[in-house]
Amino acid sequence: MRIQKAYFNDKYEASVVCGNCLKKQAINALQFKKHANRIIAKCSCGSIFLVSLRRAGGAPTRMASVLGS
Ligand SMILES: [Zn+2]
Repeated sequence: MRIQKAYFNDKYEASVVCGNCLKKQAINALQFKKHANRIIAKCSCGSIFLVSLRRAGGAPTRMASVLGS
């Protein structure tokens, strides 16, 4: 299963692009952050992928976010 990285903002809004159909998916990180920083997302195309959620702009991930890696 592929892993997609997603960065959420202060409103816990995140978006991730489906690796299969390239459709953008909106994710509400608020409902997931309490138990896990990884969720399983299902796209409307039927593709299922793991999403690794991180806070945008956080110190440890800032450089990675800028570089998009
Ligand atoms: Zn898709």
